[in-house]
Amino acid sequence: MKRTTGQNRELTRTWRPATRAVRGGTWRSDHGETSEAIYVTSGYCYEDAATPAARFAGEQPGMTYARTQNPSVQMLEERIALMEGAEACRVQASGMAAMTAAMLCQLSAGDHMVIGRAAFGPTRWVADNLLPRFGIEVTTIDGRDNAAWERAVRPNTKVFFFETPSNPTMDVVDIRGVSAIARAHGVRTVVDNAFATSALQRPLELGADVVAYAATKLMDGQGRVLAGAVCGSADFINNVLLPFQRNTGPTLAPFNAWVVLKGLETMDLRAHAQADAALEVARFIEGRLGAVNMPGLPSHPQHDLCMSQMKKAGSVFSFEVPGGKAAAHALLDALALIDISNNIGDTKSLMTHPATTTHSSLTPETRANMGITDGMLRISVGLEDVQDLIEDLDQALTAAGC
Ligand SMILES: *Cc1c(COP(=O)(O)O)cnc(C)c1O
Repeated sequence: MKRTTGQNRELTRTWRPATRAVRGGTWRSDHGETSEAIYVTSGYCYEDAATPAARFAGEQPGMTYARTQNPSVQMLEERIALMEGAEACRVQASGMAAMTAAMLCQLSAGDHMVIGRAAFGPTRWVADNLLPRFGIEVTTIDGRDNAAWERAVRPNTKVFFFETPSNPTMDVVDIRGVSAIARAHGVRTVVDNAFATSALQRPLELGADVVAYAATKLMDGQGRVLAGAVCGSADFINNVLLPFQRNTGPTLAPFNAWVVLKGLETMDLRAHAQADAALEVARFIEGRLGAVNMPGLPSHPQHDLCMSQMKKAGSVFSFEVPGGKAAAHALLDALALIDISNNIGDTKSLMTHPATTTHSSLTPETRANMGITDGMLRISVGLEDVQDLIEDLDQALTAAGC
């Protein structure tokens, strides 16, 4: 396999983000293919016995087994690390595999984690149900309140975990402020950056230690595959995450890695275009209903904080219809263009009712505490003409009696 310009690490690190997204991490085989190849293999063969011995001993680079290395997967890891400005990255089979690995790789019985309460439903399930089963204590707080992070710290606190903007209430966590509190206490900060991506928000530059992704969302960007990623220092990725990952096996398949690799080439364009469209749609809904949860709008209480750490507020937001679940379902049922779907970050605009889908596994009390009401709807704005989206929402709001 030939090293291409995309595999010259010193050169790639001089490139600007858009160039890194298109060319970072590219390896070319002897065929000289333009598009990255998909290597469908689980094992590797060696010229002689000394080669695998050197590779297993970590003395020579090269592949040994696809649970740990695959060229297509490694191209993706290299590209994501470059885009994130991280020393290293490892990818996983799904966003939840990434979140779970990012927590379990560094937490042991007797440790303590603090998590912002507004988070992806399964992430809350891992924090609320799985970690305590292994003797890991978890404190759930309102992530918007910096003082609450400070108050939650104990001598055994190892990790701060948060999502920002968070799903589905669009709470914004002060990445700089919370990371500084963590640093002062020797706590590692893990940020789920799936809603924003490196195109709109760069947590490592704001002081966070680890960035975790559902690459399923804007990175793929076209609703095709599940994938996850964890980025951080070379020490964290190689010495903390990798031993967990190579032995437990949440490995990403080469085809899925390739799909995300190609998705990244257009991510910057999509993230900006979809964020611009989301703002226009949010303005329209705010005009109809009086309020929306969209930190990109000046009326949002966390607008200034949002704009101090994000280039744009992203393509997802939520709002509440008066009339609870019946009205929310009626609105969804009246949609003629926008799809009813609990996915986000697709080129197709999608809407869901969090209380009965993404956050249905949580108790009604937990939902109420997170601010997820029965009338709440979440929209992920895609790449359709924004006027068509507004017209569809206009008639669906009317049909739902709003
Ligand atoms: C989708 C999502 C996840 C989980 O990703 P999967 O690929 O579905 O497992 C985690 N966090 C956030 C913020 C998400 O949107």
